[in-house]
Amino acid sequence: MKHPVLEIASKLIKIPSVTPCDKGCMQIAKDLLAPIGFSIEDHNHKEVSNLLATHGSGSPFLLFLGHTDVVPEGDRRDWEHDPFLGEIILHENTEYLYGRGSSDMKGGDAAMLYALKTFVQKHPMHQGTVGIALTSNEEGDAVGATPYLVEVLKNSQRIPDFCLIGECSCDKVFGDSIKNGRRGDFNATIEVLGQQGHVALEQEAKNAIFEASRFISAMQENPLDHGTKDFPKSSFQVSNIHAGTGADNVIPGRCTLRCNVRFNDLQSEKSILEHLKAVACRHEIKVIIEGHEEGLPFITKEGILIEVLSQCIEEVLSIKPALGATGGTSDGRFIRPLGTQTIEFGPVSTRIHKVNEMVKAEDLINLYRIYEKCLEKLFL
Ligand SMILES: [Zn+2]
Repeated sequence: MKHPVLEIASKLIKIPSVTPCDKGCMQIAKDLLAPIGFSIEDHNHKEVSNLLATHGSGSPFLLFLGHTDVVPEGDRRDWEHDPFLGEIILHENTEYLYGRGSSDMKGGDAAMLYALKTFVQKHPMHQGTVGIALTSNEEGDAVGATPYLVEVLKNSQRIPDFCLIGECSCDKVFGDSIKNGRRGDFNATIEVLGQQGHVALEQEAKNAIFEASRFISAMQENPLDHGTKDFPKSSFQVSNIHAGTGADNVIPGRCTLRCNVRFNDLQSEKSILEHLKAVACRHEIKVIIEGHEEGLPFITKEGILIEVLSQCIEEVLSIKPALGATGGTSDGRFIRPLGTQTIEFGPVSTRIHKVNEMVKAEDLINLYRIYEKCLEKLFL
C-alpha cells in the first residue's frame, strides 16, 4: 500500500496535463476536499482550469498555491520509463515517484491537498480559513490563470494572510532551502547594427556579429548590480543569436540577440533598458532595443509564516533551512502584491523539466507532515 500522499501524486502524474490542459486533475482535488466540507469554486477561464477550495471563514487565511499543468515530455525515447508512469521506481536503492510533474509540481500538490484533508478532518472547528488555489496554466503564459484567481480573491475581499507554494525550493537536500522571494523577469530583442558588405572588402563593411560580440563582452564587464542582502545580483543572459544571410561571402549587417535579465529589487524595466542603452552608447555600438518586464521581483523578508515553517522543517527533518531568492520566478509574484506573506517550500529542484523527472517518495511524505504541522501551529 502506498502512503496516501503518494497515491494522490501518482493519480495526478498519470494524467498527461500538458499546459494549459488540466484533463481531470482538478477533479482529484475536488474528490478529496468536497466530501469533508470544503467549499469548491471553479473559476475556469477559456481553456484554463482554475480551482479555489476553502474551509472555514475569516482570518487568518492561509492559501496553498499550486498548478496541475506540466511541461511537455519531449522525445519519449529519451525516457527510461513511460513519462506519465506515476509509479514508484527504485533508483540508487531509493524509492522515487517517477514521471513528468512528479517534482514540478504534482508531488507538492499532493502534499498540500493531503495536509489540508487531514488537518480539517482532525480539526473541523479550526479558526480562520484554510484553502488551496490550483491553476492549469502556470508553465505557460499565466493568462486566465493565477492572476485571474487573484482578481476573484480581491473582488470577494478574501485576501490571504499567508500563501504557501509547494513548488520545488530545495537546492541539494530536502529541507535545505525556503524560497522567500524570486527575481523579476525581463526579455529583450536587441538588434545590433553593422554594415553589410563583401567578406573580401572588409574595410568597406562592419561585421554585426563582431559588434554583437563586443556588446556581450561589455555587458559581462558591466553588471547591472552586485545583489542585495536578500537577492542575488541581476543576471544578463543571451538565449538566442541570429545573423548572416546564409552566403559564405557576405559580412552580416545585422545581428539579433534575444536576451533575458533576471533582476532584483534594485532594478526595473526602465533601469534595465537604460543600462543596456548606456553600455552600447559608451562602446559606440549601434543597437535597437525592444524589451519588457514580464514579472516583477518579490520578497517576503520576515513574518510568522517564515518562522513557523522553518520550525516545522527543523522538527520533521532536523535541518535548518536557509532563506533564498534564487531560481526561476513563480506564481508567488501575483500573490505577494496583495500584501500576503508568500513563501515557497517544496522538494529538491534538480530534476524539474528534465527527462526522467522523479521525486524521492520519502520527501513527499515529509513535505505533507511539514505542511500539516504548519497548519496546526498557525490555526490551533
Ligand atoms: Zn512549477
